[in-house]
Amino acid sequence: MTGVIYHDLFGRHLEGYNHVESPERYKAVIEKLRGCSFSESIRFIESIPAERKWIEAIHERSYVDSILSLKPDSYFLLDAGDTVATADTVQAALYSAGAGILGARMVLEGELSNAFSTGRPPGHHAEKNRAMGFCLFNNIAITASYLLNEGGLKRVAIIDWDVHHGNGTENSFIDDSRVLYISIHQYPHYPGSGHADIRGKGKGTGYNLNLPVSSGSDDSEYLSLFSERVIPALEDYAPEFILISAGFDAHINDPLSGVRLSSGAYREMTLMIREAADEYAEGKIVSFLEGGYNTGALAESVEQHVLALITDTTGSQHGFR
Ligand SMILES: [Zn+2]
Repeated sequence: MTGVIYHDLFGRHLEGYNHVESPERYKAVIEKLRGCSFSESIRFIESIPAERKWIEAIHERSYVDSILSLKPDSYFLLDAGDTVATADTVQAALYSAGAGILGARMVLEGELSNAFSTGRPPGHHAEKNRAMGFCLFNNIAITASYLLNEGGLKRVAIIDWDVHHGNGTENSFIDDSRVLYISIHQYPHYPGSGHADIRGKGKGTGYNLNLPVSSGSDDSEYLSLFSERVIPALEDYAPEFILISAGFDAHINDPLSGVRLSSGAYREMTLMIREAADEYAEGKIVSFLEGGYNTGALAESVEQHVLALITDTTGSQHGFR
């Protein structure tokens, strides 16, 4: 069974504030998943807050204090100006980080075969000591750390297909061979990191794979990169669990990128990752909503992604009538 993890707080972060990372994104996603033809095959699970110890496995204690002590009664700029907090933001961030951990725990315990977190705020730009790029806590890095430390796993792969490079995630595990980080992203583009030469440091050397693409890239380039680079890297690594930073801002209709993916590309990429997960990780996948700023394209792409998570590996779909 595929789980979709939700919470009303994800639709309240930045409520009333005019921001591209809007509550409407969450509402469009959850409405699409609840109304789609395969919604009966989804188990909808309400999120819980992350325990502080799991957040502090990635973020500095003083930074976590600074976020948890925010009491914005209006709008509060957290960094150079693009990351904002409103009244519900701190709670939303705790539940967004908790969503990944909850999904991972349920997958480890066999209650779910895989899961998708609809959490907002997103996470992959958040650094250990600062908010950045609409992100407060690095949800996917926190879950990877949970899998290593609580789940006892030794090899976790993170695939980041958000159109922006996940600088915070890369830095979290740059010297750690227990996490293989693979990112496909438009380059050059925000946040500026993600050069192909960055392959890791120390014990992490060789466990960081940046695959930069040009503005104008399309489905065929992404799917070729998947079959020629991403999947072989997964085969070499043999991960015990796969996490996906699933941003949908590489879509052709997205306002924040020049990449030109169709909604169907997200289905194809998900199916390729699922094959590798079935081979090495007993199918275990948790994916995380990151970017995606055209709400219609976002909802349609998420539907394709979740459909591919549900599709069983024999090619038919569970629960279809
Ligand atoms: Zn993005």
